[in-house]
Amino acid sequence: MTTTAAQAQDALQKLGVAAAAFQQGALAAHSPIDGSQIGAVRTHTVEEVATAVDRAQQAFLAWRVVPAPVRGELIRLFAEELRQNKQALGTLVSLEAGKILTEGLGEVQEMIDICDFAVGLSRQLYGLTIASERPGHRMMETWHPLGVVGVISAFNFPVAVWSWNFALAVVCGDAVVWKPSEKTPLTALACQALFERVAQRFGKAPAHLSQVVQGTREVGEALVDHPKVALLSATGSTRMGREVGPRVARRFGRSLLELGGNNAVIVTPTADLDLAVRGILFAAVGTAGQRCTTTRRLIVHASVRETLVARLKQAYEKLTIGIPTDAKTLIGPLIDKAAHDGMQAALQSARQEGGQVFGGERVLADRYPQAYYVRPAIVEMPAQTATVCHETFAPILYVMSYDSFDEALDMQNGVPQGLSSAIFGNDLREAERFLSASGSDCGIANVNIGTSGAEIGGAFGGDKDTGGGRESGSDAWKAYMRRATNTINYSRELPLAQGVDFNV
Ligand code: NAD
Repeated sequence: MTTTAAQAQDALQKLGVAAAAFQQGALAAHSPIDGSQIGAVRTHTVEEVATAVDRAQQAFLAWRVVPAPVRGELIRLFAEELRQNKQALGTLVSLEAGKILTEGLGEVQEMIDICDFAVGLSRQLYGLTIASERPGHRMMETWHPLGVVGVISAFNFPVAVWSWNFALAVVCGDAVVWKPSEKTPLTALACQALFERVAQRFGKAPAHLSQVVQGTREVGEALVDHPKVALLSATGSTRMGREVGPRVARRFGRSLLELGGNNAVIVTPTADLDLAVRGILFAAVGTAGQRCTTTRRLIVHASVRETLVARLKQAYEKLTIGIPTDAKTLIGPLIDKAAHDGMQAALQSARQEGGQVFGGERVLADRYPQAYYVRPAIVEMPAQTATVCHETFAPILYVMSYDSFDEALDMQNGVPQGLSSAIFGNDLREAERFLSASGSDCGIANVNIGTSGAEIGGAFGGDKDTGGGRESGSDAWKAYMRRATNTINYSRELPLAQGVDFNV
């Protein structure tokens, strides 16, 4: 057994996952750290997915009548469990997804944060009281639990994305069936084990409130097509969303799509370059460029381009690349060979379009032949070409320059995706314009901070090819509930709306 496999086994055992659950099955889990197999899980058939949804529906029928603040208590206990197991779960995230340990722990912290948010929310699922046009009448809206929520998640945030959905869905009175990425099945087992422990302690949760189904896209498709999945929340590539969205719509289901991004930072002539370099660096190379909010495009004013690019290159040269569990490492591996090949293909086509490539080569191949570590790349482009407009899920930062601010905004918005964006500068007019209706068209628009690393308090998501979904904070909870409008007549008359007269 490799050291990585032993570490994963140790973490899984600490988290309370039975050995049988991660030691046998058709789906092998590999660590991107060294490519070694760290576990194997049983996959679910389409019929088993249907059974899971039916069971979830039964759980929903019981859970929806439990008062929301009591539902919140379950999530409060879950947050406590996560706090106690942060180290083990964060380590497992690191081993299975390859992100550096501080980011693995950060991901678990994000789970704790959304649970805390959801606990507060459980006493704030407010509807409006609305003025009626009729005398002796009152109108209001009520938010009711929705049903079964299917969650399909991506490899790069193997646990946080589920928790964003799960914590809100549970306080909203829903049951959840989760299909994690086939690249990260072990962390899902761990989350389920932690939850089951908590549910037992809580004592009032129906069986099957939370379930995990494992497998590839066929298993996801079974969730997508099941008529009892009231909300399908899917996080992943735009390609996946294009397939999933219409299928859910065909059965009039509700979908929440969190898809690819192609996030830009605009650096203006008034920018604090120290701040910009630090902000761009973390956002462009953190998580080895495998965040949906990773900065992939740098749109820099011509007057500061040379200085900024030189400083970024200097910073890139100092990056430590290696084993993500080593405290000194800043850049861990790519998830797999396909990610590496995709990166090299993108660099090649950027070159053909006139790009000047700095970095981007594979490293540590002699030490880890089955793993894919790369030096993050900076590519100076003559224009925003087709390659730049495509999301390549790897650390490539394309640099383009601009002369007028309008040109910068056109470039920022001139890609199919619309997730995250940022501007660095101290000109109030430019910053406000960037945030205005005629500014960035993204779901996230920041000033003087990078594009990645959102807090859970705000709604997370983006428009256009990013899919339009919003998760996490603000009023994202509304996606997990159904709204009823109620009109109550407390008079002895029956006036009709719009003054309609209908007397016999
Ligand atoms: P992916 O699309 O390959 O897979 C995501 C999930 O969808 C997996 O669980 C997979 O099994 C499932 N899936 C794929 N095709 C499906 C289908 N036709 N029907 C049902 N399920 C299907 O994505 P990935 O490589 O795991 O993740 C990287 C992508 O995810 C990037 O594009 C990234 O930007 C995006 N992402 C977006 C967000 C966001 O919040 N917007 C967050 C994380 C990742």
